[in-house]
Amino acid sequence: MSRVAQRRTPQSLSADRASRPSKRAANSEAARQAAIKATLDGVRAREDLRARRANDPVDFVHAYERRADRELVALVAANLAFGNVKAIRMKVADLLRRVGPSPAKAADDEAALHAALEGWKHRVFKGEDVARLLVGARRVQREDGSLGAAFARALREADRTAPSEHEGLREALAAFCDRIRIAGGLPLPGESKPTDRRGPVNLLSNARAGGGAKRLLLFLRWMVRPSDGIDLGLWPVPPRRLLMPVDVHIHTLSRNLGFTRRPDVSWKTAVEITAALARYDADDPTRYDFSLCHMGMLQRCPSRKDAVRCEGCGVKSVCIRWRGEGAGPASPPPPSKRKRTA
Ligand code: SF4
Repeated sequence: MSRVAQRRTPQSLSADRASRPSKRAANSEAARQAAIKATLDGVRAREDLRARRANDPVDFVHAYERRADRELVALVAANLAFGNVKAIRMKVADLLRRVGPSPAKAADDEAALHAALEGWKHRVFKGEDVARLLVGARRVQREDGSLGAAFARALREADRTAPSEHEGLREALAAFCDRIRIAGGLPLPGESKPTDRRGPVNLLSNARAGGGAKRLLLFLRWMVRPSDGIDLGLWPVPPRRLLMPVDVHIHTLSRNLGFTRRPDVSWKTAVEITAALARYDADDPTRYDFSLCHMGMLQRCPSRKDAVRCEGCGVKSVCIRWRGEGAGPASPPPPSKRKRTA
């Protein structure tokens, strides 16, 4: 290169100087993303997933061998996953004991199933609500061969007109649930009166309503993610289509890691958090969900820098509350107005 070509003009020198901060910002953002990925991978690698599974409702699903039984047990266990884990496990165990060794066979005999579940109750849900859910899901299984085939069909149909993949997923979930409701005799969203009991209408979330649909997304994760000792990989749907099942703890963590600034637990929040996680694994963004959920620290996360309560937190090095001592984004999200949405 000639000396003339190497000589820099004042304009090019000033343009070069101006681009330096943005290059520095890009490098520091890349370093922050790499640090978060390494931290999340570390949390996942350290977790004893098998031991944690014993405390999770998904454990019930693994006790069954037949696919039809697994689908039904997963549908019930995920949709009853409200509140305290111990209480959920106790109630689901009692329910499954009443149903017998094959929920699919039991759901073929509607009257006997209703009789078996009479008197069972968990929060707003009664045995008759779960009996209707099982009967409806079983009828869909019989019509399409499996719930997985029914959902995959709903997804294909929704994708034809949906403006985005997330909207396609939402409409497919809603249509899938409507089909089960109709087949089992549960009310469709909007059909019940304000004075009606909430159990029958709340048993399956209404994905169209804009809430996080956490229990439905949890059920999908169990069925779709590759078999890894926790999730079962039963359905013909790519894991990249999944969204994070966001509860209050995952929401808090996601804000502390800068995945979202949204103050609510909504569908949009689930989309944002999933998009952030897709930077670390585009084909399987929800792979971190189970280990993050079982990170004990999250149960008492103060969402502020607290030397005592944050001690030992697996994500402390990348938490924005500790920025300056870890890798965090420039500004913290606005104060949370958290709302749990089923
Ligand atoms: S470091 Fe503290 S504030 Fe940050 S996620 Fe962990 S417990 Fe919460």
